[in-house]
Amino acid sequence: MKPYREKSSCCGCAACADACPVDAVKMVMDAEGFFYPRIEASVCIHCGRCEEVCPMGKKIPPAQNLYFGAQAKAERTASSSGGLFPLLAGCVFRRQGVIYGAAFNERMELVHREARTPAELDPLRRTKYVQSSPAGVYRRIQSDLEAGKWVLFCGTPCQTHALLRFLRKPYPTLITADLVCYGVPSPGLWRGYIRTLERRHRGKLTAFSFRDKRSRDNGHTCSYTVGGQEHAGSLAEDLYCNLFFLNYSLRPSCHTCPYCTVDRQSDFTLGDFWGIENVRPKMDDGMGTSLVILHTDRAKRIWEDVKAETDWFPCEKEDILQPRLREPTPAARGRGLLMLLYRMLPASALFFLCEKAKKIVNITNIYCRKKQKAIE
Ligand SMILES: Cc1cc2nc3c(=O)[nH]c(=O)nc-3n(C[C@H](O)[C@H](O)[C@H](O)COP(=O)(O)OP(=O)(O)OC[C@H]3O[C@@H](n4cnc5c(N)ncnc54)[C@H](O)[C@@H]3O)c2cc1C
Repeated sequence: MKPYREKSSCCGCAACADACPVDAVKMVMDAEGFFYPRIEASVCIHCGRCEEVCPMGKKIPPAQNLYFGAQAKAERTASSSGGLFPLLAGCVFRRQGVIYGAAFNERMELVHREARTPAELDPLRRTKYVQSSPAGVYRRIQSDLEAGKWVLFCGTPCQTHALLRFLRKPYPTLITADLVCYGVPSPGLWRGYIRTLERRHRGKLTAFSFRDKRSRDNGHTCSYTVGGQEHAGSLAEDLYCNLFFLNYSLRPSCHTCPYCTVDRQSDFTLGDFWGIENVRPKMDDGMGTSLVILHTDRAKRIWEDVKAETDWFPCEKEDILQPRLREPTPAARGRGLLMLLYRMLPASALFFLCEKAKKIVNITNIYCRKKQKAIE
């Protein structure tokens, strides 16, 4: 049994698993490497809570939004954009609160977890291009809120909407920040990529930075550490990131995502300020600028608290309307083939084939460009 009609209508937020009063819902990996809920029929009491909590298809009313560009005055190297998330976290730590975000565990799987002290925040920072597993955190957040604690939750818009539906009532001490989201790639494919890198470099992968900004290139470098040795290269050249950015590896629901709009259920939306070089060329220092959208009165009050810690400017909706705030990412024509190969081949063979295919495409492109020039 499953609590969704078709795969494209399940975003994998796992709120149904946390909401089930008899723990009948388990998140199980499918053949494309994504987690979907499965109901154990013998345990289910048919209360309908799993369907009620699901955020997909629920109406999102328009909000009275305010739009800003901002850069944290503190260092931004350990953040993927302008470093707004750690500033919001600081605001909550000052109130002795708890921060929930996505971090790699010791097996390099991406899970949502909490930071209860500023020293625990670093693993939550930085963008990770993998779908995170938030299973279990909705319940922990609820108990923190019931104990009167301040909580900041940051995640994809579907996860944030799921949290609000899970909680069922508003809490004055909860702050939610969701991301502008391109879509989330398959955790199974990510696991296969880790194995491939570990085999290639003969060691254990202990760190992966998707947006390494140390060379001040707005995070167009990615780096990883295997067996204590660091490797770095262009984000566009990394095979796993390539499949992500070319739309081969996203979750089916991402291609019809209802959150590709400026209206959200959260307090804040955070993203990269695309086009900063046109709007504020002087701020384009290669270290990232955040796009910040305030949706609620609470967000407006908190913004008053944190804005002095940033260089910020107000802007219009038209200045920030990047593609993922207008429409979902379309699937690549070859997505089905890639997923078929993922099912059939060991990960190392799949990435070997992708590498060869990429080389052929590159050579073909160079040949076509030369031919075009010759014609002109
Ligand atoms: C899969 C994905 C796709 C994105 N696509 C876009 C896009 O198309 N356009 C755009 O403008 N911005 C996009 N972003 C958001 C952007 O990359 C930054 O994460 C955001 O601007 C916050 O940056 P920061 O400097 O404030 O925070 P940082 O200090 O870098 O912290 C990052 C925050 O994001 C959370 N996070 C990281 N990875 C995940 C994940 N996989 N799932 C859930 N939460 C996560 C962390 O917990 C943390 O709260 C995307 C992020 C992700 C994870």
